Amino acid sequence: MSRGFTGEKSPDWPTGVYKVSFSSVNLDFKFRRLKILVSGGTGYIGSHTVVELQQKGHEVVIVDNLCNSSAGVIRQIGKITGTEPLLEVFDLTDRHRVEDFFGRHAGLDGVIHFAAFKAVGESVQKPLDYYRNNLVSLMNILEAMHQQRVLHLVFSSSCTVYGQPESLPVTEEAPLQKALSPYGNTKRISEEMIADYAPLSGIKAVLLRYFNPIGAHPSALIGELPLGEPNNLLPYITQTAIGKRAALSVFGADYNTPDGTAIRDYIHVCDLANAHVLAMERLSKLQQQQKPEVFNLGTGHGNSVLEVIQSFERVSGLKLNYRITDRRPGDIEQVWADVSLAESVLGWKAVSSLDEMTRSAWNWEKYLASQ
Ligand code: NAD
Ligand code: UDP
Repeated sequence: MSRGFTGEKSPDWPTGVYKVSFSSVNLDFKFRRLKILVSGGTGYIGSHTVVELQQKGHEVVIVDNLCNSSAGVIRQIGKITGTEPLLEVFDLTDRHRVEDFFGRHAGLDGVIHFAAFKAVGESVQKPLDYYRNNLVSLMNILEAMHQQRVLHLVFSSSCTVYGQPESLPVTEEAPLQKALSPYGNTKRISEEMIADYAPLSGIKAVLLRYFNPIGAHPSALIGELPLGEPNNLLPYITQTAIGKRAALSVFGADYNTPDGTAIRDYIHVCDLANAHVLAMERLSKLQQQQKPEVFNLGTGHGNSVLEVIQSFERVSGLKLNYRITDRRPGDIEQVWADVSLAESVLGWKAVSSLDEMTRSAWNWEKYLASQ
């Protein structure tokens, strides 16, 4: 460790890890072990975040009703980190269970709230299920946090709140647009609910707007586990390559983009997980907050569907079976993030390349096939 380092990021250190200053005493860099409730912590992004939290020395309690994940994830997290986090299995829409949980877990420092339904298409078919699950869970958590004076919240939001932005890259200041699905609407309403309640309740909050999380932990012990036919691009690609699906449909090649296919800002799930830890650590040090802070989490540049396929073919050495089909209704043409705010305020930056993302997703698919 070099002397006189003042807290800038060092290129050879993992994202968000800082060398401690010796030239000036800076209490910000003193480590404090936090005890965090991770709702939805056996799910895709939650499990990677639990790994990051534990690897940074924090204590985790997970609540998940396992509606879209499995308890086996706990064992996998244990293999990676050496510690199996505590899991309580219940539905967060049950207010009494939530109150009971908070009553029994004194000393919680904060909540990272992932638990939600997330399938856009399904939300159009079952809008009330989505409103009930995603909004009632959040309301129960907010009230219990207030009652028990657990005052730090990191919330999973989505770039879906921007719709098709008028200018790119999209900043946090871009106007929010009418949601294209009930799912998207639950994210927008959740953000508003937190913004309305936070100043009254003393809760300090960070709203993280994810762009397109993909990939899996480098150990290949945890990753995305879509139930049934995947909606998202990367699981569809890897399932096609492994032989679970006949062919990938590329939804539209007539967009106004360089190769005609739609563009998204794909971000490695481990980079995303790391941002949650930094956000929670920031909240735990923040004296005051006027209103919830909002951060885009992406890489800052976009890739087309064909570029993602090419990356997958490069890292796997396979030729993917795909065909161009019609556009998918509701899809936007292109979006990528301006991530300068997360960089300057959270000290966070995504570090993984597209090839690292597709390689880790492929390793995870092969691991699943080997089980
Ligand atoms: P996931 O489905 O893998 O994880 C969500 C977890 O929450 C699951 O384990 C599920 O069992 C649990 N859960 C759902 N409802 C619950 C309830 N009522 N009570 C208890 N547990 C419940 O999803 P993910 O991809 O990890 O997404 C996590 C969060 O990030 C969600 O809020 C999602 O909307 C948001 N998000 C995801 C993406 C993405 O592409 N994956 C993009 C933007 C935002
Ligand atoms: N996509 C595709 N085929 C698929 C799934 C997705 O061509 O089977 C495209 C989709 O049209 C979009 C991009 O891949 O342009 C990312 O889609 P995904 O559903 O993963 O994320 P979204 O940005 O839509 O939330």
